[in-house]
Amino acid sequence: MATILSAQSTDERVNIVTPALFERYPDAKALAAAATADLETLVLSTGFFRQKSKALIGMAQQLVATHRGQVPADIDALTKLPGVGRKTANVVLGHALGVPGLPVDRHVLRVSSRIGIASGRDPVKVESQLCQALPKAMWTLASDVQILHGRRICRPKPACERCSVRKDCDYYRSLITTGLAGKRKNDARRVRTPRR
Ligand code: SF4
Repeated sequence: MATILSAQSTDERVNIVTPALFERYPDAKALAAAATADLETLVLSTGFFRQKSKALIGMAQQLVATHRGQVPADIDALTKLPGVGRKTANVVLGHALGVPGLPVDRHVLRVSSRIGIASGRDPVKVESQLCQALPKAMWTLASDVQILHGRRICRPKPACERCSVRKDCDYYRSLITTGLAGKRKNDARRVRTPRR
């Protein structure tokens, strides 16, 4: 439920909404029988509340109808559920069910291609490349680390001068080769210098 609600929302917002949601609908059976208007009111603040409510009820109904109300620990079964794409399925596998999964979001796409451990903009192909390059036990952690790194350091405008993996990064090596790394560092210093 939380992962479906997280689309176009923030972790903080979802964490505010979920306690009341879980109390009202403690299992798939309860959620499958939810009145749409009631659910929409509870998830309103996460955005796209109509689509999300429809997906949540549909997902719960399918869980009850085909999986005895349990969440299946299988990516093919998960991605057949309403509102569950490959990224959501991998998050649920890795974080809720203890099965290695490697969610690829925009941060993982950016970080992995800059470092040079994957290439392309297709999340399914990047997931496949990363899964082949990494031991299965590291899949979920590798995704989490890249998401946090992409939020904090390797942002669209990367803070390479503060990055602990720059020696292993193709993007940084290309900056060195073209002589731009020093310029970036000086730019960063200038930005950090307070005006008097
Ligand atoms: S060195 Fe720069 S581009 Fe490479 S991972 Fe670090 S922040 Fe990203």
